[in-house]
Amino acid sequence: MRSEKKQQMNIANISYVKRTLGELRAKKRFGQNFLIDANIVDRIAKNACSSDLKTIEIGPGLGALTEMLLKYSKDVDAYEIDRDMYRLLNEGIQDERLQVYLQDFLDADLSKYKEKLNICGNLPYYVTTPILFRIFESGLDLRKITVMVQKEVSDRLNAQIGSEDYSALSIEVQYLFDVKVEMNVSKEVFYPKPQVDSAVISFTPIRERNREFEKSFFTLVKNCFRMRRKTLHNNLKDLYESDLIQKVFTELDLEQGIRAQQLSLETFLKIHQILEGGAQ
Ligand code: SAM
Repeated sequence: MRSEKKQQMNIANISYVKRTLGELRAKKRFGQNFLIDANIVDRIAKNACSSDLKTIEIGPGLGALTEMLLKYSKDVDAYEIDRDMYRLLNEGIQDERLQVYLQDFLDADLSKYKEKLNICGNLPYYVTTPILFRIFESGLDLRKITVMVQKEVSDRLNAQIGSEDYSALSIEVQYLFDVKVEMNVSKEVFYPKPQVDSAVISFTPIRERNREFEKSFFTLVKNCFRMRRKTLHNNLKDLYESDLIQKVFTELDLEQGIRAQQLSLETFLKIHQILEGGAQ
């Protein structure tokens, strides 16, 4: 009964958004672009949630995504930085399964969450990367992270070997997660309309976390990309004995002039094993 009522409420439409904002304007400094297409919102939420798990939402705004997250989740904890949005959201959705926190997500105490969770959000563009890293490094037991980001950010996160965007960040993300671009989203489905298109990208954890190994491995990967135009050999030569570097090239049958952006995740793991002796 309740979910039927919520469905009819349908916050993701232009008249609800304009009427509810009233005199207020969307705040650029908080990256406010509200979703106004109910079908897209429904697809995102359906894909992101599971009925037996809590979903954490980042930046609920007026609640377009929140009402659909409630439809597909056990319950929802939403973190909103803007006092106006906090008030309008609490007026707009009354559901005992929703807990809204007036708080910057970057300051939220995530250690209280012990259970498996989903995370979802239409992320404010000005703080997308810090938010993602906050989540990646949180130690939360996550089933899936599903976020709307600007298209270029999704290209960077999901960059494939050899591409312009392939970087230490893409290797780190691909080491930890199965990364999937769920859908591309036109700028037309937001109010106000942003400059660029967006994409929904998901991250599903694929490994047991091992902080010590990750620290050592990610440092090495960053070092390999230190000077992007330089060869792998040049990026490593001040950091390791030349015999050891040569061992990498011989054992992995790498050309001397190879660059980090030409190496797969598996090759980075092998390089790490030779240079740092680190098994996963
Ligand atoms: N979820 C709504 C939707 O899809 O229509 C709004 C999305 S809007 C792109 C981003 C939302 O994040 C805004 O409501 C904004 O106020 C909020 N926000 C911005 N920075 C935040 C932060 N650091 N922590 C929590 N919320 C934040």
